[in-house]
Amino acid sequence: MIPDPNCHLCGLCAGRTNIVLPDGDPSSGIILVGEAPGENEDLEGRPFVGRSGKILDGMMSQAGFGRRDVLITNTVKCRPPSNRDPTAEEMAACRPFLDSELEGASLVVGLGKSACRDLLGYEGPMAAIANRMTEISINGRKIRFLPTYHPAATIYNKATRAELVKTMETVARELKK
Ligand code: SF4
Repeated sequence: MIPDPNCHLCGLCAGRTNIVLPDGDPSSGIILVGEAPGENEDLEGRPFVGRSGKILDGMMSQAGFGRRDVLITNTVKCRPPSNRDPTAEEMAACRPFLDSELEGASLVVGLGKSACRDLLGYEGPMAAIANRMTEISINGRKIRFLPTYHPAATIYNKATRAELVKTMETVARELKK
């Protein structure tokens, strides 16, 4: 299920240029979920094409895979104004689209706080849960969920960068199974 091109289910429709749909392999069992489109994503209509996307692409490449091997998406499909975090109401409005992307997955990777808040209901520090495998329920089906840092949180921090590298190594091992 994808949003109608004129989707007005939440207020994020007001400032968007493009609805940003998932990128990568829709049949991949591994799905990376980020926060929300930023300026570049909004303009191009593809997720993770800005600075965070370059970091993510580099880490995936270093681990031996690329975006064609996984599916990359966001909690909400339209850019929040001034790149603020999406609200709980906006994430709830967009959640049916996200659920339809995730329902066949074998592993979902939550990139950062918003993805973990939306999918896990977790509000605490990422350091407490990063790279600790857990489970989420999507449409009544249990799916493994791996929380980790958003690429933007790794730019000036060696420790978070090392954790995200570790996540990508886990994804690479999963892809070989
Ligand atoms: S963020 Fe999702 S629910 Fe809100 S307008 Fe965009 S597509 Fe619709």
